[in-house]
Formats: sequence, structure tokens, C-alpha cells
Amino acid sequence: MNPGTVAAACKATTLFEWVAQDGYTPLEIVSAEGSAFRTADGRRVLDFASQLVVTNLGHSLEPIHRRVYEASRELSYVTPLAATRQRAELGARLAAFTPDHLTKFFFANSGTEANNDAIRIARAVTGRRHILYRGRSYHGSHGPAAMSSDDDRRRLWEQEPTYSVPFRAGSGVVRDDVAAFRWAVEALGPRGIAAAVIEAVPGGSGVLVPADGYLAGIAEVCREHGILLICDEVLTGFGRTGRRFAFEHWDLRPDLVTMGKALSAGVAPIAAVAVSAEIAERFGDTPLGCGHTFSAHPLTAVAASAALDEYERTNAVERAAKLGEVLGRGLHTVAGSSDAVVRVRSIGMLGALELTEAEVTRLKHWHQRLLDAGVYVIAKGANLIVAPPLVIDRTELDEGLATMARVLAG
Ligand code: PMP
Repeated sequence: MNPGTVAAACKATTLFEWVAQDGYTPLEIVSAEGSAFRTADGRRVLDFASQLVVTNLGHSLEPIHRRVYEASRELSYVTPLAATRQRAELGARLAAFTPDHLTKFFFANSGTEANNDAIRIARAVTGRRHILYRGRSYHGSHGPAAMSSDDDRRRLWEQEPTYSVPFRAGSGVVRDDVAAFRWAVEALGPRGIAAAVIEAVPGGSGVLVPADGYLAGIAEVCREHGILLICDEVLTGFGRTGRRFAFEHWDLRPDLVTMGKALSAGVAPIAAVAVSAEIAERFGDTPLGCGHTFSAHPLTAVAASAALDEYERTNAVERAAKLGEVLGRGLHTVAGSSDAVVRVRSIGMLGALELTEAEVTRLKHWHQRLLDAGVYVIAKGANLIVAPPLVIDRTELDEGLATMARVLAG
């Protein structure tokens, strides 16, 4: 197929959200290397989004590809009911990568599935049904994960009665208020609440770094009432915020942690639920009814193990912490020279430029102008969200930030 006709062919024969958007032409990406990709019209674009915050290790993933290829010569697919070396290795690898209290892992294919599985496990273990979720968070596209998300388009088509209740109004007011959480728990009746599901740093809604004491306060109320704490690290996991997982900035000890996106650095679709030793013990023989045909597929398991090795080899997490300071400073410089930006939020290699009320309607305009100038970011809600690869080199990071400053000043 000729470059240039691909976008039209995609629109003609495949479904994605953009099919409903008249006049929208999807960006045609033909190849990618390091921290950049190439478009069909031959342009090199800096990937300041790591696609959808997936390619934390950039696009040159030869060591992972090689391991997957070698593994494929031994085994491609076997039932998840079988024990495989690939799955055992990934379990051990994740146990080494995650905080010590997380001892068991349950595999899925997407962040949505992982969150739905985590909610299911929490319900099975507690015998309770309700889920409290943090307003302005996103946990998935369907099922209880969607019902626990601030995304009306996802909630609209869900038929199940909702047992999910937000604990902060999604009115746009950022208010990290433990009292509001306590009130929601008491109003709902703590003995009916299975879990609170949170993004420690809601990413898609604009990198909402919590106020000090907020998450610890929530964790304490949960502990008081036997409510399990699920931390959704689908977007923030694997070094993105300068720690392995965002909840580690605030020393939380979640009962369940979900992860996806960057787990295999984008090589294969894989997600996981990490479970504390206590929870693993409590669910013992409880029939959970989780599990998927492709759970811990041997090749995706190898991709994830190899990615975890690459995170270590490249010191990605430490790099993210260091480069994150450059990114934070750079975004403040961008904002300082732009009338379009009202606020900057960032943590590690994840940042957001919030546009002024007057400019929010022109979010797509700014996104396109940045793309035309060679920097790809995520446009969502009121924010331009940036998440460059953790392994980006300093020159490219500076180059991208300088471009952003130039474009947003104009
Ligand atoms: N949780 C969070 C925090 C996410 O950002 C996302 C995806 N953007 C999901 C869950 C859902 O993941 P998936 O799209 O893989 O189902």
C-alpha cells in the first residue's frame, strides 16, 4: 500500500474513534527509531508522548525483539492453565521489580482488563460490592473499570447497575480532601465497600500531583474500614514518574496494583495485577472467574521479562528522575513565554501544560502546530500532556522543549 493512501484505507475499513470525526485525518506513521518516528510524508517527529505513554524505552527495542524471536522458536501459544518457564520467569522478574509486599501477579491483556480483574479480586476477597473511585481518574473502557472512570463516553453504554461512586467531584476543581473521602465512605456504608481505586497521579486528566498527606489519608481510612486500596499504575508505572511506580513517592502500601502499557515497552499487549501476600492468601481457593485465553501468553511474557531487563540495563527509572527535572524546568519556561498556558504540572517524565480557558477550544490547533514543528504530544481535555521516552537523550529533550517554547509563544 502506498504511503499516503494508508490513512484513507484505515478510515474506510477499520473502526476507531476517529471514524466518527469528519475531516480528521489520522497521522500516518511508517517507522520509528529511538525517540522519534517518521511519517508517510517523510518527516521525523520527536515522540514526546511515548505514543500513549507506552514506549517508555523508545522505539529501538532490538534486545526485546530478539528475545521474543528466540522464544517463538520454542513455543508460541499454550493454554494459561499450563505452567511455563516464560510465565515463571515473568512472575519472578516482576516480584523483583515491585515493592516487596507484592508477591503474586495475575496477567491480562489490557489496562482495562487488569482493573476489572483487580476489582473482581477485591470483591471476592471482601465479599463487598461497592467501589470508590477518585474523580478525574480513568481506569478503562468497559465494565466496572469504565464505571469507575470519569469518562462519560465510556460510562454511557454500560448496562450494569453501577456500584462505583466517585469521591471527588469532577467539576474541574482540584481538591484533595481526605474529609470528602471519609464522608463518601460513611455515606455509602463502609461495610459495603470492597475497594478504593485510585491513580496516585491521575495522568490523562492533567498530571494531578496530589497534595501532601492526601493519599496517606485515604490509605488510612481504607485500613480503618477493611477497604482494599487498588493503585492503578497503568499509565504511571515503570519509571514514568521517576520512581518505579507513582505510589512509591508517598510510601503507600496498596493491596493491589494494576499495570499495563509500558510493561512490555510496547512490544506485546500485556497487563498485570500485582497482589499483596495477604490478599493472595485471603483469596486462597475463592473461585474468581478471572483469567483470559491469552493471560501470560509465553511470547508476551518473554517480551515483558526482556523489557524489565532493559529498564534495569538502561537505568531508566533513575534517568527519568534526573531528566524529569529538566523536563519540569523546561515546561515552566514554555509556560513563561506563552499566553496560552495557564498552569504546569509535572512529576518525573510526565508533564501537562494546562491551557487557559480561552485557548482550550484551540487545543487541537496547538497539538497540530506542535506536530507540524516536529514534536508529538497528547492533547486531552484542557491539557497538552508530555511523556517523552525515559531514555531520550538530553539533546533531543532540549530540542523538543525549545520547539514547544517557540510554537506556544506564537
Ligand atoms: N488506567 C489508566 C490510568 C490508563 O491511563 C488507561 C489507558 N489510558 C487504562 C487504565 C486502560 O488501559 P487500556 O487502554 O490498556 O485498557
